[in-house]
Amino acid sequence: MSAPSQCITPSCGEVVKSRGLCKFCYMKAWMYVIKGRVTWEKLEQHGLALPKKEPWVGYNELMNARKEREARIRAEIKKHECVVPRCKRKVKSRGLCASCYEKQRKNVANGQTTWEKLEELKLSLPLKDQFSEDVKKNYRNVVV
Ligand SMILES: [Zn+2]
Ligand SMILES: [Zn+2]
Repeated sequence: MSAPSQCITPSCGEVVKSRGLCKFCYMKAWMYVIKGRVTWEKLEQHGLALPKKEPWVGYNELMNARKEREARIRAEIKKHECVVPRCKRKVKSRGLCASCYEKQRKNVANGQTTWEKLEELKLSLPLKDQFSEDVKKNYRNVVV
């Protein structure tokens, strides 16, 4: 088995340095650890780091689970129709089709509404990277 070379952080893709993490992700995790806000054990439990001694144990399982989840999220996004009732056109951005997005973008630009308000009204979806949001959520769960 050849050693995996990609950082386990979703959407990172950098070369692994230690514990399945690239130097950036490792440094970030390490900062949390030395500040006493989290332990390596906890990060390992949450799949945010790999054990130091046997760095590749569980890596394949982790990557497979992650690939499945990413495929699921992508399929979820892909099948989405515009969130505007009765519109049914294909989503372009923020859960809206091209024409609804353009309309709301103008409203926001005119100060008639905000994206936050539209999100509350379920007339748009947050413009966020799903995968990095996942990572942040994971950190929020494990960081004291
Ligand atoms: Zn990384
Ligand atoms: Zn629409």
